[in-house]
Amino acid sequence: MILPKTFAAKPPHPTAAIGIFGGTFDPVHFGHLRPALELLEQLPLTEIRFIPCRHPPHRQAPMASPGQRLAMLELAIAEEPRFTVDDRELARSGPSYMVDTLASLRAEQGNGPLCLILGTDAFRGLPQWHRWAELMELAHLLVMKRPGEPLPQEGELKHFLESRCIYDPAQLAQQPRGLIFPLEVTQLAISATRIRSLIGAGRSARYLLPDAVWDDIRKKRLYSAPLFMPEQ
Ligand code: ATP
Repeated sequence: MILPKTFAAKPPHPTAAIGIFGGTFDPVHFGHLRPALELLEQLPLTEIRFIPCRHPPHRQAPMASPGQRLAMLELAIAEEPRFTVDDRELARSGPSYMVDTLASLRAEQGNGPLCLILGTDAFRGLPQWHRWAELMELAHLLVMKRPGEPLPQEGELKHFLESRCIYDPAQLAQQPRGLIFPLEVTQLAISATRIRSLIGAGRSARYLLPDAVWDDIRKKRLYSAPLFMPEQ
């Protein structure tokens, strides 16, 4: 007998996870987008959720406003339905602690697997994050190898890597949290810092980020010396 869909037996484990990509995205660029697409293709992820932070606790305040960064992200992801933007950190006052963000996502997702996406630079800085060890009680960590940024070879992170590192991505969907999966993604030596300084110096950032984002930056004169208005 074929059961209707609603009565079909559920699999013992959830089969897909949600990727959580936090950052300042000041602005979002291909160094974020291309690796995110590769994660979707290689891992059991149904969605990648970009979460721009309002008050980054560990670095200078972003140059573009929360609304401007959100608008650039929405333009950047418009063509990929599995990319979404979540503005919960922008709506929250006080420092944007990732542990609070993951706790609110966990409350919504129940026991569904969550994967926090980090570049190697962000991973190496993890011990400076607020209540950082709790992050792994809430989500897995996906560590994207970033040009010139090796994985930590000593200290607490080395210990976490040794005890939690996995090599089979299927495991990410079989348990909700607590594993670390480092992976190679296309190495794009692009940073938002470099983009801001190019624009500030009156140079073009075209081809480092989506055209729609570049057009938005020029239209709103973000990051720029006031005289920079080429490329009509
Ligand atoms: P900035 O230069 O202002 O520090 P950024 O380019 O590092 O910005 P963020 O928004 O701070 O961008 O980064 C969000 C996340 O994306 C971080 O985990 C960071 O490690 C990762 N990331 C940024 N650029 C790349 C890249 N080119 N390759 C891999 N990961 C990246």
